Amino acid sequence: MIYLDYQATTPLAPEVVEAMAPWIGDKFANPHAPYTSGREAAAAIEVARSEVTKAIGLAGGRSVFTGSATEALNWAIKGTLGWKGGKHFVTLATEHAAVLDCAEWAQGVGHRVTVLPVGADGLVSLDAVRAAVTDGCDLVAAMLVNNEIGVIQPVAEIAAIAHDAGARMLCDAVQGLGRVAIPDGPDLVAASAHKIHGPKGIGALWMRGGCEPETLIHGGGQEEGLRSGTLSPALAVGFGAAAKLARERFDEDHAHVEDLWSLALETLGKDWTINGSTDRRYRGNLNIRREGLDAARLLADCRDLAISLGSACASGSGRPSHVLKAIGLTTAEARSSVRIGFGRYTSADELGQALARINAAAEAQRA
Ligand code: PLP
Repeated sequence: MIYLDYQATTPLAPEVVEAMAPWIGDKFANPHAPYTSGREAAAAIEVARSEVTKAIGLAGGRSVFTGSATEALNWAIKGTLGWKGGKHFVTLATEHAAVLDCAEWAQGVGHRVTVLPVGADGLVSLDAVRAAVTDGCDLVAAMLVNNEIGVIQPVAEIAAIAHDAGARMLCDAVQGLGRVAIPDGPDLVAASAHKIHGPKGIGALWMRGGCEPETLIHGGGQEEGLRSGTLSPALAVGFGAAAKLARERFDEDHAHVEDLWSLALETLGKDWTINGSTDRRYRGNLNIRREGLDAARLLADCRDLAISLGSACASGSGRPSHVLKAIGLTTAEARSSVRIGFGRYTSADELGQALARINAAAEAQRA
């Protein structure tokens, strides 16, 4: 199998597997226990936490571990808006389901919700943000790198508009962490280990001092009472090792992805159109369409290639992607689109082979 679904998840880095191994084996103590082995686990978690915070790269805040980025986003939105209603939440039409479903929840409990459209390039207009984010707005959420089309929203500018209006800014940096620099500005940042070659089952919410959302998960008072539940040293250490690698390999990974992108464009030829901006884009995401293509059939014809129709969550539903619809694609165009995601461990050779197969399968459909 050739793995080209880096937006769905990424392969575990060998360094991460090695770092996690002792914590899955002999070092099983509860990190919240007072004896030596417990304290050793707690110390390892703190080292991991500081690596995650360093990789996020923003000053004046701390990272709290969660079970996923989905949890981090739910916490940031629900814990900032609260359950009483009456607040104003602004977000974008192309956000992840974790944000859009929270927006629906927010509306259900009586908050005002504004969902801003994006242009054909997938980017929100700052004028539209300025018009929506006025005094009395409480929270603005925008993704850094889109999971379906890779476009990079102007997060710093959106954060500045939010702050001028007295609102907080939440950035879903799940696809951005380790791939593009997170600009200064957000008050809350959601991240996920498994998108940066770390383990599944752990995420983090970075929060600027003074912007802590209300606690969502009550219990034993772990994470300074902010998020209860016994932490997994193995998962935290894995996340920390992945974050350290992402920081150290940032330039190398970036250069590799740029090379693969150029190779992909040369190999694919002119029958394909790229969905979303090519300039303001993380180039490890190639979301492309071809007129008349039945993308679902192409995937079925190329089962040994791990590529997708869009987000892993939406792929199974049969519904056209909300992101592709938001950039103005017709249902037919959305259904003729495939997402190819590559990164650190993709070789030029395997990408070339996969694209040749994709081209051949698309040609066969035309015949
Ligand atoms: N936000 C974005 C942009 C994502 O791509 C994903 C995962 O697909 C999530 C949030 C949710 O992350 P997790 O899998 O950690 O819940």
